[in-house]
Amino acid sequence: MTERTRFAPSPTGHLHIGGARTALFSWLFARSKGGKFLLRFEDTDVERSKDEFKYSILKSLEWLNLVPDEEPIYQSRNLERHKSTALSLFEQGAAYYCDCSIEELEELRAVQIKNKQKPMYDGRSRDKNLEYEGKNVLRYKMPAVSTSFKDLILGDITVDNKELDDFIILRADGTPTYNFCAAVDDLDMKISTVIRGDDHLTNTIKQLNIVKSLNGNIPSYAHLPMVLSESGKRLSKRDGALDIMDYKSEGYLSEALLNYIVRLGWSKDEIEKFTMDELLSYFDLTDINSSASKFSQQLLDWYNNEYLKNSSNKYILEKINEGNQKIDPATPKILEIIEVLKKGAKTLVEIEQSILMFTEKPNIDADHELKNQENRELLLDFISQFREVDYSNIEDLNIFIKAYIKAKEIKFPQLGKPMRYALTGKSNAPSIGELLFLIGKEDSLVRLENFTK
Ligand code: GLU
Repeated sequence: MTERTRFAPSPTGHLHIGGARTALFSWLFARSKGGKFLLRFEDTDVERSKDEFKYSILKSLEWLNLVPDEEPIYQSRNLERHKSTALSLFEQGAAYYCDCSIEELEELRAVQIKNKQKPMYDGRSRDKNLEYEGKNVLRYKMPAVSTSFKDLILGDITVDNKELDDFIILRADGTPTYNFCAAVDDLDMKISTVIRGDDHLTNTIKQLNIVKSLNGNIPSYAHLPMVLSESGKRLSKRDGALDIMDYKSEGYLSEALLNYIVRLGWSKDEIEKFTMDELLSYFDLTDINSSASKFSQQLLDWYNNEYLKNSSNKYILEKINEGNQKIDPATPKILEIIEVLKKGAKTLVEIEQSILMFTEKPNIDADHELKNQENRELLLDFISQFREVDYSNIEDLNIFIKAYIKAKEIKFPQLGKPMRYALTGKSNAPSIGELLFLIGKEDSLVRLENFTK
């Protein structure tokens, strides 16, 4: 059997870390077994579903390279099929019409709450043998058994169907409801394994019963534990509930983000970094931790820095300039500048901004504490010696700087601090040897002289 998985987002918002992880695990599971990964937009909620979100979800999946193997399915286009399937359940006696009014249902609920019972529909229309009269809803006749399945992550699950009510599958206006549509679509798409968040566990039980009543092949199910914020709450915009495309514009590499995401609840030995090929050979749902994982911005930044450090300078320049050219590739020594900057950078944006230290005149504050008499004199003296020195690489410069400090009997920061500031207008900058070399002798002398004035 060819494995077929699907990612089924509701296009009511952008793709976030949690959804991206579900998509990644579904993609990996299918692809590692030579199977197919499909995409289905669950867009039947006309009010909240937006084309803008479909587009942005597609863009995010494309950026992460989690491209579906078949054309995306739009659930809203299958409504007639859902409806006729629901009616077939009515024909076979597995569903029935219900004419209970809202008032009647509210009263039932109030009584149940008062009696400390779980509020749910009690099946009172089951034997009324009603037909559709323009206002009746169609309810699924939940079989009076228990539902069991072996979850690929959570293990054996059994639920007594008494806990579930005869839920509505067609509303009074004839439109099908979410659980029914999802079950029918999974069948039609020949999905062999449904991988979804564990907040859908109750939906799975309902859908599994529907699939059984339709005599369909019951897929395997895998429920992923939630991704929580660092403080253990639901993810908010500050911690991982960002649109995936925001990570792109903030300068994260998609391969770093994917590596970070895959480690949210999944691990293989003590390995931290994986190539896609490695993931495809190691990935197994059984290695997913059954408890919730926590989002960590710090760890994500660590991954991005790791990937930046190990990317070629040319690749980083291409990534910075993707979409629109921000850095002129003809900038002198640009690849060497990137080589220095990528060591300490968290994002591409950080590198891009730091490149300006080399290409633009520094902004020196005339009243800056480092611009004192002593520092100006020291730099003037340094200038006179630097002007004469011959060098062809950073190493030569470092030797010269070391010798200068020794001869002057000063400590390194005494020279380093004012010089960094004089050269860049910043206190946080690469080493002075790297700065002098990459800015170039002529320009460095101009910057140092300006500082001493
Ligand atoms: N549309 C559901 C959601 O976005 C997904 C349900 C599923 O994976 O079956 O949460």
